[in-house]
Formats: sequence, C-alpha cells, structure tokens
Amino acid sequence: MVKDNRVLALMDELAPKWGERELAAENAGATRLEPTVVAELRASGILKAPLPEALGGWGSSLFDCCTAVRTLARHAPSTALALAMPWGNTAIARLPANVIPSALRPAQQKGAEWVAAAVGAGKILAVANAEPGSHGDLQQTKTTAKQDKEGRIFLSGRKAFATFGPDADYFLCAARSGDVVDGFFVARQAHGLTLDSAWDAWGMRSTASVGLTLENAEAASYYGHPGALSGVNARHWSTVLFAAIFVGVGDGAVTLGASSVGKEAIWARGKLAEHALELEAAWGFVEAVAMTDAWPFPARSMERAKCAKTFAARSALAAAASGLVVGGSRAYAASGRAGKLVADAMAGSLVRPPVSHFMDELASSVGR
Ligand SMILES: Cc1cc2nc3c(=O)[nH]c(=O)nc-3n(C[C@H](O)[C@H](O)[C@H](O)COP(=O)(O)OP(=O)(O)OC[C@H]3O[C@@H](n4cnc5c(N)ncnc54)[C@H](O)[C@@H]3O)c2cc1C
Repeated sequence: MVKDNRVLALMDELAPKWGERELAAENAGATRLEPTVVAELRASGILKAPLPEALGGWGSSLFDCCTAVRTLARHAPSTALALAMPWGNTAIARLPANVIPSALRPAQQKGAEWVAAAVGAGKILAVANAEPGSHGDLQQTKTTAKQDKEGRIFLSGRKAFATFGPDADYFLCAARSGDVVDGFFVARQAHGLTLDSAWDAWGMRSTASVGLTLENAEAASYYGHPGALSGVNARHWSTVLFAAIFVGVGDGAVTLGASSVGKEAIWARGKLAEHALELEAAWGFVEAVAMTDAWPFPARSMERAKCAKTFAARSALAAAASGLVVGGSRAYAASGRAGKLVADAMAGSLVRPPVSHFMDELASSVGR
C-alpha cells in the first residue's frame, strides 16, 4: 500500500520536464545540472521526501522514493543520480532512537535536527565519501578528522566523485580518527575546501561529480551521531536508490528502442521484451529489499541490496546497448538519447559497490 504518494505525484509531473532539460543541457556541453532544475529541486520540497513527518518532512518510504527515482531515471538519469545523494543522507534522520546506545541518543537527535533544518531550507546535502583509489569502500578512507580543544573537528584529505559539486551546500565526508571512520557534513564554502574542475565523464555528465580537497576544513555536523557512518546508519537507502535508478535507465532504453521499431521488427521487439523481463526481475529485487523496514538494516539484507544494485546495473547496460542496436542509424546520433543512455548506464558499474569488486566478492564466496 502506498502510504503517501506526494513524492510519486510530484515526480510524475517533474520527470519529463527535467528529462528534456537534462538532454538539452548535456548536448550543449553542460557538466552540471541545468540551473532551473537545481532551483526546482530546492523549492519543490522534494528533498524533504525521506525526512520523517515529525521533523517537517514528507515521511516517504524507501520504496516510494525508489519508485520516484526509477520514474526520474527513465527521463533524466543524471538528475536521478544527483537526487539519490541527498535523499540517502537525509534518511539518517529516520534512525529510531532505540537502535543506538542511550548515551548517543542526544547526539543523534541533534544530528537529525541539523539535517531537518538544512533540508527544510532547500539545502543540498551531497556526498564526498569516495577517495582516489578507495573504490568507494569506506574502510579505505585516508582523510583524517582532528578535534581541537574547543571540540571543533577539522578534516584533511582528498575526495573523488562528489556529485552536485558547485551546486552542493554541504558534503558528507568520511574521515578517520584513529581506527574509526566517521561521517561529517562540511559546508561547500568552508575555509579549506576546494573543488576541482576536472569532471569530464563519458556518462552522467551533468552530475558534476567533481573531486575535492580538504585542508583543515571545519565540520558543520556529524552524520547522525559519532560512530554512525561505520555503525548503525541509513546507508542502505543509497544502495537501494542506486539500484532503482538503473532499473529506470534500462526502462528508458526499452521504451526508446520500442518507439523506434515497427511491428514487423520481430527480433528487435523480442530482444526488448527480454530486457523488459529482466528489468522487472531487477525491480522485484529492489522492491523486496526496499520493503525491509528494519533498523539496524540486517547484514543479509545489505548483501541483497548490493546484489540488487549489481543486477540492476548489469540489466540497464545490456538494455541500453540493445536499444542502440535496434534503433539503427537514427539512434547513432551523438546528440540523441540512445547513446546517452548507454553512457549513463555505464555509471551503474562504477557507483558503489563497483560491479567488478562486488562480483569478485560474490565469486570468492560461491559454494560456501
Ligand atoms: C557518475 C558517478 C557519480 C558518483 N557520485 C559519487 C558521490 O556523489 N559521492 C561519492 O562518494 N562517490 C561517488 N561516486 C563514486 C563511486 O561511488 C565509487 O567510489 C567509484 O565509482 C568507484 O570507482 P573506481 O573503483 O574506479 O574508483 P577508484 O579507483 O577509487 O577511483 C576513484 C577516482 O580516483 C582516481 N584515482 C584512482 N586511483 C588514483 C590515484 N592513485 N591517484 C589519483 N587518482 C586516482 C580515479 O581515476 C577516479 O577518478 C560516483 C561515481 C560515478 C561514476
């Protein structure tokens, strides 16, 4: 049952418009989202979807948010990937108090209120956890966090792939203090934070997923409570949202492919039907994991979330490649959607966990 379909209704209205603007912007060479899309993201209230109603949000479920980003990704893959980042961060405000030790509950409440105030004001909470060579694995974090005598925390290190780049207001940055990898929000304008401008990706071009450097940049807030990023948190939201995005990218390729072939094109239609079936299987996987409303999120469910993301990413890439084949020479235009969908689908192999690394893990556990 859909508890609150506000997010779905709004997305049905926005996704086609945002899709047109994304394609036009990327064809014009833009490497960040079109400014009116960013303005509507902030003003529409959609950033508040995962925030609990008690904190002024919409209280949308993970499954509703997955359905909404699937819809968006059919039209606007880069915008969908960008939206998943703040949504994933905002979900930390849903953490029930009783799943963490009582001593940490006041800190978690403060962290959740900080997120609610930022998101309520239309601020974009981006993610800058990945580092050069870390493959998106938090345990590989080299960025350091140091506390001064007044209790202020300063971060130093390098980050790779921070989607939203110059349009972000804060970045969630993983940083190590001793053995613990913790999460901190750092303001884009913080002294000591610089963005690079080297974003020149093949797909998801307008996500502006830039690198950044932190040189004693002060943290504005913890991600939730101290220890949350390596302990009890809401990171499964991002993994499942990524899975939903790539189902949507695959859907977009099947729909586009079907619109370009006649009824007599039996092989092409059969090929697209096979992809549609596989994408439905991927969606069933996403749905099963998204419906697991358990805190802390069980380890077995997290493994399934990674499987769902991997399956969706592979299915999307295969569907997008077939879409290009069946579309023929019209689909071959550099400014068309078919080629863009292949390039965008390719990002599914990279976002965490990267497909090659996750498949290594799976392969080594086969039969155990
Ligand atoms: C479109 C897109 C958007 C993303 N958005 C985000 C985001 O918002 N937040 C986030 O935390 N992660 C983001 N990621 C990163 C993602 O989650 C994974 O961490 C990353 O894709 C893993 O890829 P990899 O294994 O090739 O990375 P790595 O090998 O870890 O490489 C990461 C980056 O560092 C460079 N690099 C690698 N080794 C070195 C080295 N020794 N010296 C210098 N540079 C090096 C690589 O060329 C690459 O640009 C995004 C990825 C993509 C493709």
